[in-house]
Amino acid sequence: MSTINVRRKTLVSIAADPNSSAVSFAGKTPDLSAVYGTNCFNESIQRERLPEKVFESLQETIRSSKQLDAGIAETVAKVMLDWAIERGATHFTHWFQPMTGSTAEKHDCFVTPVNGGKSVTRFSGSELIRGEPDASSFPSGGLRATFEARGYTAWDPSSPAFILRHKNGSTLVIPTIFVSWTGEALDMRTPLLRSMSALEKHALRVLKLFGNKDSKRVFSTVGAEQEYFLIDRRLAALRPDLLVTGRTLFGAKPPKGQELEDNYFGSIPERVLGFMTELEYELVLLGIPVRTRHNEVAPAQFELAPFFEPANLASDHQMIIMQLLRTIATRHGFHCLLHEKPFAGINGSGKHNNWSIMTDDGENLLDPGDTPHVNAQFLFFATAVLRAVHLHGDLLRMGVSGASNDHRLGANEAPPAIMSIFLGGALEDVFKQLAQGSATSSKKLLPIEIGVSNLPPISRHSADRNRTSPFAFTGNKFEFRAVGSSQNVARSTTILNMIVAESLDYMADRLESAIKGGKEFNTAVHELVSETIRQHEAVIYSGNCYSEEWKAEAKKRGLPNLITTVDCLPLINDPKSIALYEKYNVFSKSEADSRHEIYSENYIKTIHIEAESALEVAGTMILPAALNYKKTLRTAATTPAQEVLLTDLNNAIDTLIEQVRKLKKELTETPEGEVLKTATYYCKSILPTLQSLRATVDTLEELVDDDLWPLPTYTELLFSR
Ligand code: ADP
Ligand code: MG
Repeated sequence: MSTINVRRKTLVSIAADPNSSAVSFAGKTPDLSAVYGTNCFNESIQRERLPEKVFESLQETIRSSKQLDAGIAETVAKVMLDWAIERGATHFTHWFQPMTGSTAEKHDCFVTPVNGGKSVTRFSGSELIRGEPDASSFPSGGLRATFEARGYTAWDPSSPAFILRHKNGSTLVIPTIFVSWTGEALDMRTPLLRSMSALEKHALRVLKLFGNKDSKRVFSTVGAEQEYFLIDRRLAALRPDLLVTGRTLFGAKPPKGQELEDNYFGSIPERVLGFMTELEYELVLLGIPVRTRHNEVAPAQFELAPFFEPANLASDHQMIIMQLLRTIATRHGFHCLLHEKPFAGINGSGKHNNWSIMTDDGENLLDPGDTPHVNAQFLFFATAVLRAVHLHGDLLRMGVSGASNDHRLGANEAPPAIMSIFLGGALEDVFKQLAQGSATSSKKLLPIEIGVSNLPPISRHSADRNRTSPFAFTGNKFEFRAVGSSQNVARSTTILNMIVAESLDYMADRLESAIKGGKEFNTAVHELVSETIRQHEAVIYSGNCYSEEWKAEAKKRGLPNLITTVDCLPLINDPKSIALYEKYNVFSKSEADSRHEIYSENYIKTIHIEAESALEVAGTMILPAALNYKKTLRTAATTPAQEVLLTDLNNAIDTLIEQVRKLKKELTETPEGEVLKTATYYCKSILPTLQSLRATVDTLEELVDDDLWPLPTYTELLFSR
């Protein structure tokens, strides 16, 4: 069939059958609260099913992060097996987050043959707590060469096991860490857990200084808002670039994009709502409640936000959300795009990392609160965050780097690569006064003296929002907006936890020694907070972070502007970073080196695949279409104006051929050796050539007969539903 027929027929079939999707619940969604968490081996199911002693011991392990008592593993496994089989599970899998950026699973069947042609259903304690996947097929960035080839997975009881359903059954999923035999982290979860311990240790020190005797544990909380695109699968199937790279490498600007701003919070298309309802139902079964859903700024772009949870759980749940977004989209005839910039010239997708610090007795340490005491403590913690972002903004930026997020950051819609903090009017005013020492005059506010007078109320939903800031205080949490939509949120959270742990450590040291030196507590806190704000207020910015002025101003203030991933890669394992990682036991030197290798290679491979895909599409789809049209035009052109058309077409075709040749040649000339050198080459040579090739193809799209054009256009991709 010729291209034209395929494309047109697809469009016609979408128009005729926009709700091709599965109707999952025949118009009535089941009672969500009745099924909430029923596919999750959570505390309530553990209490109900486990013998009391075993339950207590497991809970103790979870609460204290102590080692699991091997004596209870057998019982837990047996109970878990029965529970899973009731839910239709036939297999179990250890589920982990290797450095591929996604999750990994290998299913093992519960059924084991025994003598006499029979079988038994079996799941042992040792299968629950440890697995040995072959580590050699996962990125290890050199750790493999230095150490043992094998790695192992170990159950992390703080993240409950769950049931993942598919059309014909289900699987018992056991969240695990993934480490080498020598204990080096080969995954994203292990460093996150370590960073949470570091944060906990120093936050507890601070709480103790503030006289808190009740809180035993402190953890960071995360609520990660997820943006994504949904396009019709039938059209996606006609875009090899989209299928292979997750983004459109070509596509002329559509007549209508998002300029009318009519999509944001617009009514959700029925077919999409059908998809969302099923997705949320599946998530609720797993105990992952989605709080909000809405249309985003770009056409065909949507967002969901789950309730916040302890960071390790939130990041596991985030990975499940991404997995289910993809599989359930397919059931509804959609292709879900989690790439940060699937369409040029149209808003990209992020994952806002809402982050805070919380105690086990439910106190949010970044909530201003109502009493002077709580306020003083709040200001102490908020100042520690300010200091962390100022001192380690470069690491924060590094923690969200990657080839795909580079297209989004600083692209006039997403936060720039410069890390600054937006505090909001009320809090900024307080900080300003504190920076002036013993605060004196203010237009609106009384002088502030920490611990003595009350803070003015800081509204949790204060109207002043700054959407352009990468790091904003939003009433009782910070929102880190530079995280990319496809990224594992564990990575940015690990950095955030670590740098704030460092700040709290420093400030706790200072406070302790001031008190030892005989200073009154409130005075010591006040002086330390004032001084810290003065030293770090350069990172506060409430203007438009997308503007050129800010770039210039940030430079004056000495804030780093790490524009591309290549600028960030050296930071991963530079000696200063390693010293910090080691001090807070987040990464060892060899782990940092391995991560440098992995992220560099990932960057190179991503762009390499894009270049190969672009060459394939340009050479075998675009060029033939353009040459075909040229034949028609050559016969048809009879006037000078028509001849001009032919000349334009000829020029574009020649340019295309030249650029294809150039890109091929550049790919063969890739420098070998040092990964950073290769990555730089891909950034400075391959990407710009890819960009010029794109411009030519997009010009051709506007010249060539639509009947002959092989790729679904932006209009078709974004508006067919
Ligand atoms: P807003 O509407 O002000 O942006 P929401 O209350 O809707 O904020 O929250 C947005 C996201 O922030 C949600 O995912 C929510 O769960 C998360 N969130 C709220 N409070 C916290 C907190 N204390 N820690 C981490 N995330 C939080
Ligand atoms: Mg938000």
